[in-house]
Order: sequence, then structure tokens, then C-alpha cells
Amino acid sequence: MCADTAGSQERRSFLRQLLPAGILLLSVCSGHSLADEILALTGARIIDGNGGPAREDAVVIVQGQKISAIGPASVIPANARVMDLAGKTLLPGLIDAHIHIGGSGGGSADPREFTPTAVENSLLSYLKFGVTSIYDMAAHPSLNSMKTALETGELTGPRLYGNGFGITAPGSHPIRLITELGLLDYLGPFYFQVDSVADAEEAVRRISAEQVDGIKLFHSRVEAGTTRFDADMDKLKPEILQTVIEQAHARRLRVYAHTSFPSEAREFVEAGGDVVVHSIHMAETGARDVFELMAARDVAYIPTLAVFEGGYTMEPGSFFSPQQHEKVWDVLLASITAPGSVVLASRTVPGLLNDRERSLEISMANLARALQTGVKIAMGSDAGNAGMLHGATVLRELQLMNEAGMTPMQVIVAATRNGAEVIGRGEELGTLEAGKLADIIVVNGDPLQDLSALGNVELVVKNGKIINPGELEFKEVQQPTGDGS
Ligand SMILES: [Zn+2]
Repeated sequence: MCADTAGSQERRSFLRQLLPAGILLLSVCSGHSLADEILALTGARIIDGNGGPAREDAVVIVQGQKISAIGPASVIPANARVMDLAGKTLLPGLIDAHIHIGGSGGGSADPREFTPTAVENSLLSYLKFGVTSIYDMAAHPSLNSMKTALETGELTGPRLYGNGFGITAPGSHPIRLITELGLLDYLGPFYFQVDSVADAEEAVRRISAEQVDGIKLFHSRVEAGTTRFDADMDKLKPEILQTVIEQAHARRLRVYAHTSFPSEAREFVEAGGDVVVHSIHMAETGARDVFELMAARDVAYIPTLAVFEGGYTMEPGSFFSPQQHEKVWDVLLASITAPGSVVLASRTVPGLLNDRERSLEISMANLARALQTGVKIAMGSDAGNAGMLHGATVLRELQLMNEAGMTPMQVIVAATRNGAEVIGRGEELGTLEAGKLADIIVVNGDPLQDLSALGNVELVVKNGKIINPGELEFKEVQQPTGDGS
């Protein structure tokens, strides 16, 4: 049942005011409330996200929003609704720790990509691919209103976290990129271009006054964009790097950094930073030393491998089967190969493909180094960039992590428990344990034998509510009605 009460209508008009881009709000009927129901998930193989052996004989009990027990059949309460999941695998909902919800992931060749409907559909895609939490790693003007709408159920999608703002050196990444894309007027105000300690203090003070989950900084000389690949920008001055991190920590906010060279990552780690959110993808000696330092200081690493392929993953014959196509809004998928696509255009830029291929090679080798040195690794798809479709890119990212030398179990831990810890939610999310929030996915097959089984998500439980991903329908862009709604 899903009645449209006066209260929810009131909340909607309030939300409309909050959403400058006019996000169209959904009526949410897909989740069955389990507030009064106890659910017993039985018969499945259980991978709990902690990395230990899968359990074949246990059941998971969900009560309200939480997992109340995991154990033998004797833990099933008499009044539980039992779901037999024989032949399936239960895992924690996946956590994509690096996305950009403001980017469509298409080829920027269709104006419908830049509508609120596109964002709503991308949020649905995450659920279809089993992703129940996402972390937006860059500036987004509507992040807070989207978070609220997701929390209240006005929007359907994964849990959303993010930084909301970014700190960078004047004119450096991503300022130059968003200028080239014609987005400076829209996104520019959400980046603080700092050139002094006073600027840095002011930036952290203003960002932390908003509802942010962390502070993102850019400390990289490299622009790896859609038309260029140059290492000619300024990184943050040492005293600014130090100030941002100290000021953020004083407010109990984690600091996430985009770095490219080993030396940049080292400077960030030595200044006290928390998470390196991109691959160290540029060649320079000393990468292994940096990973050793990261391991010693418990600084986590998000490898972001697929982004260096920039849309290759959508080619026929790749992992991205027709079956997976259905989980993506067709407008976004078609845009990647449509006339005017920036994905296609980027393939004709002299040298760009070579630079990307080289970066992918280095990134794969560096992930193996990170693994060997014991660095905590989380999964981030960097979706939202051109050709990097929301949700779908996760499958490719998992596959590349596997090819870089991680076992399927290590990949799963990265995409669940480690992801939760990296985004600061390790206490409540990321593993299947009594007391944690019930974010669970049911997949067909055994991902420990073949990771691509993670592409067969049959059921999603988010916050204790059952969602059938096959029933989530993409919306089409509404014609303007003239009243602004
Ligand atoms: Zn990114």
C-alpha cells in the first residue's frame, strides 16, 4: 500500500523549493515495509563481507530496518515470513565509494541526459546493479536535497553520501575541465580555489557548515579529461594541504584526495589525509613506498580502473551484455555512440587513447602493489564521467580489480565492508551482522566462482525493505507543463 497523504504532498512542495534543477519526485511504492514483519532469508550461500568463508547453512533474520540475527535455522522466530533462497547468494549491498551523480555517464549527445529524470533513472540503475550506497566524490549543487529526498523515500535509490564541495588550486582540476565543458557558471561556486592558508581555513569553515560527509581536495598536476591529458597544472601548496586536512579533522571530517603521481599521494598521506580516491595512474618511481606508507597509516585506496577505458566497456562483446543493457536508461546508453558523443570524439584526440591505456596499465600494477602491501582497498567506479554509466560501470570495475590480482572474495570485501569503512559508515553498513542496517542483495549463482554473478541481482533489501529491481521502471522525460512542476 502506498497512499499519497497530505503530509507527503506538503513535503514534496517543500522539496521542490529545495531542488533548483526541478527534480521530479517519485511516488515510492516499490518497498514493502517490514516494520511489523520479521523476515527470514533461508537456504542461500552467505558472504558476509568480512572475507571469511561463505556459510552454506545459515539464515539471516531481518527485523525492521536491521539485521537481528544470523545463525542456524533455530534462530528463525515462529512468526517470521520465510523466503527460501536456495541456489542464491546473499551479500551486503554493494557500496560504490566514488561516483559523480551530476554526470550522466552518457556521451553528452542528448539533452535528456541533463534532466532530473536522468538522475532519477541513474539512481534506479544503482539498485538494479545491487548498489545500495553511493558516495559522490565531487561538487554537486543539489546533493543535500537529493539526500533528503532519498531518506524520506520521495526518491528511490541507494543511500547517498558526498562532499558537496571541492578544494583545489586556482585553475587546476577540475576547474579547467568544467570550464571546457561549459559548466563553470553552474558548478564553479561549489569549488574553492585556494591560494593561501587563510583561503583554506575559510573554505573548510564554509564547507563544514553544510551537511557534508567529508572534504574533497584535488592535489594533482594532471588533467585526464575528454580532450586532453596533460600534467601541467598546479597542485596545492604544502601549507594549504596541511591546513585543509587539519581543519577538516578538527571538525571530525575525513579528507578524500584526487592525486595522480606517487609523489602527490605521498604528500597527501604525510599531511595526514584519509583516503586516496583515484588510482595512482602516472608513472614515477616510489609507488610501492607510498603504498607501504598508506598501509602503515591506515590510509585507504580506491583504484578507479574502468574510467581509463572511458566508455570502451559499452562495446558489443564486452562484459556489458544485452541483459545488462536493460538496467540502464536507453537514452544514456544510446548517447555514448550517438553523433556528437564526447566518448567518440575523445577517441580521435591524438595521443589521448595511448595516455589512457598507459594509465590503466600503471593503475592495474599499482592495485597489485596496494594489495601486496596490505592497503585497505575500496571499490569506486567513477561513474558519471563520459561513458561511465551509473551502476553498470560497477560490474566492469569489479572485473578489472579481479584481473589486477584480487580474488573474488577480496573484490567483494572491497565493495562492501571496506567501502563502508572508507565512507565513514563501517559501524552500520558493509557487512551482514546482527545489529547492522539491513542492506542485502540476493544474486543468482556464486560470485566466488565467477564474479560476473554479481550482475544477476534478483532482490535488493535496503533499510529492511524488499525491492524487486526488475520492477523499477525508468521514467521518460516529462514535457514541460508551464507551471514549473
Ligand atoms: Zn571522480
